[in-house]
Amino acid sequence: MTRPDAQRVAELTAALAAARERLRLACAAADRAADEVELLVVTKFFPASDVLALVDLGCSEFGESREPEAGRKAAEVRAEVSGPVAFDMIGRIQRRKAKSVARWADRVHSIDTDDIAGALDSAATAALDAGERDAPLEVLLQVSLDDAPDRGGVSPVHLEALADRVETFAALHLAGLMVIAPQSGVARDWMARAAEIRAGFLVGHPDASEFSAGMSGDLDEAVAYGSTCVRVGTAIMGSRPILSPKIT
Ligand SMILES: *Cc1c(COP(=O)(O)O)cnc(C)c1O
Repeated sequence: MTRPDAQRVAELTAALAAARERLRLACAAADRAADEVELLVVTKFFPASDVLALVDLGCSEFGESREPEAGRKAAEVRAEVSGPVAFDMIGRIQRRKAKSVARWADRVHSIDTDDIAGALDSAATAALDAGERDAPLEVLLQVSLDDAPDRGGVSPVHLEALADRVETFAALHLAGLMVIAPQSGVARDWMARAAEIRAGFLVGHPDASEFSAGMSGDLDEAVAYGSTCVRVGTAIMGSRPILSPKIT
């Protein structure tokens, strides 16, 4: 597959370098090693050719949130690249799409109900049996910081019950937590709240230590509060078409 034109490659090169530098500075400010925080490039709405250009620039982990766009893109990119390229599902999952997600996703950041966890477990079991995957699906539980329904996420009061349920599923591996800070209020306060919830959660689940937090607008605050994976779209890819007021 062709790479994007030279102008787009130059744009991506500059934006990626700036994002990496910003992440490096955020880690330094928080007294953390730069390799403690993974940079997940969110490529939803952007073509596979952009992903290939980013692979050429040394990226190997991408976030997607829309089906069937995500599955198609992952297949196109993997067919083209010899090394491993990870694709994570970071958006809300509809039950009927679980089968497809379990085929292409390395990790899912957005588990927020028993129902979707169960659907993904069945789908991942089938994918393992069929040889379409070779490892359990890594999953993060998305926690709602304000209980607003539109961004998804489990309420902190139901987090333990969901974690217990997920741990009974053989084809899922509980890896950690994910948050999306609400637009309202102060990012630093939301991330402080998220870190508090995570600290409580880690007592019972010390191995589920991944913490997916921080996007283009708030990655610095997220890193200060312990993020191990920032999900960066706009700051690297440019702006997405606006389809709905929700994060899609
Ligand atoms: C789109 C999206 C992102 C990236 O957001 P930006 O503000 O563009 O960096 C991060 N996380 C989730 C869950 C998303 O859907």
